[in-house]
Amino acid sequence: MNIPENPYLLLTPGPLSTTKTVKAAMLRDWCTWDDDYNSLVQEIRAELVQLAGVNQAEYTSVLMQGSGTFAVESVIGTALGETDKLLVLANGAYGQRIATIARYLKIDYLVYDAGELDRHDPEKIDAILGNDKAITHVAVVHCETTTGMLNQIEEIAEVVKKHNCIFIVDAMSSFGGIPIEMEKLGIGYLISSSNKCIQGVPGFGFVIAKKSLLENCGGNARSLSLDLFDQWQTMEKGNGKWRFTSPTHVVRAFRQALTELEEEGGTEERFLRYALNQRTLVNGMRELGFETLLPDNLQSPIITTFISPDSPEFDFQKFYNQLKNHGFVIYPGKVTDYQCFRIGNIGDVNPDDMRNLVLAIAASMYWK
Ligand SMILES: *Cc1c(COP(=O)(O)O)cnc(C)c1O
Repeated sequence: MNIPENPYLLLTPGPLSTTKTVKAAMLRDWCTWDDDYNSLVQEIRAELVQLAGVNQAEYTSVLMQGSGTFAVESVIGTALGETDKLLVLANGAYGQRIATIARYLKIDYLVYDAGELDRHDPEKIDAILGNDKAITHVAVVHCETTTGMLNQIEEIAEVVKKHNCIFIVDAMSSFGGIPIEMEKLGIGYLISSSNKCIQGVPGFGFVIAKKSLLENCGGNARSLSLDLFDQWQTMEKGNGKWRFTSPTHVVRAFRQALTELEEEGGTEERFLRYALNQRTLVNGMRELGFETLLPDNLQSPIITTFISPDSPEFDFQKFYNQLKNHGFVIYPGKVTDYQCFRIGNIGDVNPDDMRNLVLAIAASMYWK
């Protein structure tokens, strides 16, 4: 059987376009309980720790079924004890989602919302932490996929360290695509998922955690299925065993995706490809008269938000359908105060794809 060609490229921030070989890895069945499968899981766990640039003695990784949000919820619900308090640094929907998780779980929290177009002021974070000694944990999104903003986790890390708080980073749309110095930044929990920069398919998230922190989290979880501590213990004691049915095919595809990341030259090389994709796209779009929502100095190489054309004839759905017919799937906007749309720069896509997309957009500009 041949693997059918995709009718379009997904220029969305996950699920995204994957290689044929990643998809082909799913064409067999795997049992969930035997040594073959469990060693595959152990291999992946060890490689994730390695990919984070930290050592296996002090750090571990835990895989968690579900989409990325499930993994975030497992961290928030497991890392914080009954008397702990969370400071959420939000500047978009994913930061706000962390606050929503805390609210659902009845965890004490405070939000510092910088607004969708701004970064957090480290001095302000310093003041918040100085004024509220109850805060024990600080959570931030690395690349805020809502806008494409890259938050300056290096500066934030220094303040978090100064106040001895535990640092939680939602690196969902950056891990594997943007280098992160986990140990230097003192990150206690780093969260990502199978279907973003590692270029696997959706089905599980993962957490790279400092063992000395996770060790103290037994009994904290507010949910059985999202108990990160228990999942970790089961994976440790069972040598790669998951507590409940694991997404076997997704895990197999992820194994292949990790190999392909390594073959590409690791996170640094992938970062360069994404950055070139992003530059190529933005240069082409600006030539067509489009404007980006964010200035270049705040922009990540992951996803770019463009302001919708100021024309009564512009209709996102129509524009989207035309591009889809040309072989490109783009993403609607998610920013509150602007009409905009987003184009992902990640996945199995290269600068030529970006150039072709710009040509397709030029051909679809019916409102001009
Ligand atoms: C994708 C993403 C998530 C998780 O979203 P899911 O839809 O649950 O996979 C969380 N945070 C960020 C920054 C993301 O980009």
